[in-house]
Amino acid sequence: VRFQDFGLADSILRALADQGYTHPTPIQAEAIPVVLRGHDVMGAAQTGTGKTAGFSLPIIQLLLAHANTSASPARHPVRALILTPTRELADQVADNVKAYSRHTPLRSTVIFGGVDMNPQTAALRAGVEIVIATPGRLLDHVQQKTLNLSQTQILVMDEADRMLDMGFLPDLQRIINLLPRERQNLMFSATFSPEIKKLANSFLKNPVTIEV
Ligand code: AMP
Repeated sequence: VRFQDFGLADSILRALADQGYTHPTPIQAEAIPVVLRGHDVMGAAQTGTGKTAGFSLPIIQLLLAHANTSASPARHPVRALILTPTRELADQVADNVKAYSRHTPLRSTVIFGGVDMNPQTAALRAGVEIVIATPGRLLDHVQQKTLNLSQTQILVMDEADRMLDMGFLPDLQRIINLLPRERQNLMFSATFSPEIKKLANSFLKNPVTIEV
């Protein structure tokens, strides 16, 4: 399999060429077509497998199908939300998303706690289609009305097991309740405890299981 075989936009293929990636990793080869078809996904994957590109590339492709090139921030609602347990992971995922979308009109930003909210607020006000965030600070922005999730069509929970270990379950439930009912959900976890399965059952719809 090659990246060209998935029907990804030229702008995405160019970004992959910039990165020097020639072939998808096993999880990418499995996940990309499934996500493109609109399925929910339950992914068993460790860091280092290439899972970030496995969900980011098809999300960028899905959003591009209805990309808005308007300069008006109001025309750039948050359409994809990627939740991570830590600021380090959020930063890493955000760097990847930025790299893969650099030749597209899509905008993204990263939101995490422990730093000044104002620059984050400014980025959100300017309009972004993709937000990568830790749960607590994301909810702070919702409360301050600097972030609206009513048009978010795709939700990713990355390292869901770590989010539960860190006590984020109530925040995750609050966030899910802010999203439209009709949406695509992707969940990645290195381990599958009963708690993780319960969370998965509560918000995934007929998920395709992907293991590598
Ligand atoms: P991840 O598991 O998403 O953290 O990715 C692990 C590392 O593999 C990261 O440094 C990526 O930049 C790199 N990577 C992801 N996909 C590919 C690919 N298809 N070919 C080569 N390297 C990749």
